[in-house]
Amino acid sequence: MGPGPSPVSDRVMQAMTGPLRSHLDPEFVLLLDDVRARLTTLFQAPPDHFTFALSGTGTTGMDAAAANLLEPGMMVLCVVNGYFGDRLAQVCALHGAFVERLEGEWGQAIDPAQVERVMSDGRFDVVAIVHGETSTGVINPVGEVAAIARQHDALLIVDAVTSLGAVPVDVAAWNADACYSCSQKGIGAPSGLAPITFSARLRHRRAGTPPFSLDVKKLEDFWVRRRYHHTISAPMIYALHAALTEAAEEGLEARWKRHADAHSALVAGLDAIGLCLLPALAHRLHSLNAVCVPDGVDASEVKDCMLTRHQIEIGAGLGPLAGKIWRIGLMGSGATIHNAEKVVTALAKSLGRTPLSR
Ligand SMILES: *Cc1c(COP(=O)(O)O)cnc(C)c1O
Repeated sequence: MGPGPSPVSDRVMQAMTGPLRSHLDPEFVLLLDDVRARLTTLFQAPPDHFTFALSGTGTTGMDAAAANLLEPGMMVLCVVNGYFGDRLAQVCALHGAFVERLEGEWGQAIDPAQVERVMSDGRFDVVAIVHGETSTGVINPVGEVAAIARQHDALLIVDAVTSLGAVPVDVAAWNADACYSCSQKGIGAPSGLAPITFSARLRHRRAGTPPFSLDVKKLEDFWVRRRYHHTISAPMIYALHAALTEAAEEGLEARWKRHADAHSALVAGLDAIGLCLLPALAHRLHSLNAVCVPDGVDASEVKDCMLTRHQIEIGAGLGPLAGKIWRIGLMGSGATIHNAEKVVTALAKSLGRTPLSR
């Protein structure tokens, strides 16, 4: 129940024991087509986007988005209100872009008016933003920021690593040019693949000088035209396919609601033992809950107690929030009211608190 990886269902575990097939096996490539279709649905991406899964993790998705979109000299506005916003800014700078960091308080969502203000002179070519900021439990208003980017004809990079599969991600409505995620958070498979979607506009620009392994053109040749590019892992594709099938069977709306309900149960339980979340009510990411550590409590001692005495793994605070928050993940198959209640009970015991003692 940490910030990822999330628990993996028996069905997904089982899927990985399927027969090993090569990356161009006629049956296997049909599965790849189905993975593309299911990911397109999950991202709510338009049909002219190229949606697939990179071999790698969420960070590989970040690298691929930047490498395929950015050229030296480009002006990028990157929203930085957490650890992953900071990483995104670093990655964009590595690809030679000039990156201006729009800093926001850790634990608060970025204010779109702030974005509007810095964008007003039209100097930015690209806007980069993290949707679900896993370090703070905040969901940034990507829809509003995307509308501002569109007004200024800027390209848009969205990190949906913790949001995809847990809360609505709408690549079509956002008009996002590159949006990436990972297999091990909201989707509920092991780590090893990075779902990603690229717009037609981005693919036609042919900007950037991506490394061979991350080149969207070459990857499209493999996924669509069945030309060898790299040897993708069959067990990983089986796992992702099974997790995406589970998501489709559940239905997107029902899945988002399950995450919201688990989150609400957690908040209610925490409230009963006198604990609260860091982000304001309107900006909470359902899949990752940043819980404020009460004054005088040693955050790491409680975290260790949760693991050794209660067999529940939770996450620590990062950067300026180290020692100040715990991070409780309710993602993928782990997003249940039962898990929310279990973690509250264990936390209450670890802290020596009961609902009555309040
Ligand atoms: C986890 C995470 C990443 C990095 O993903 P890895 O799979 O660990 O490489 C990037 N961005 C966000 C928002 C994340 O939560």
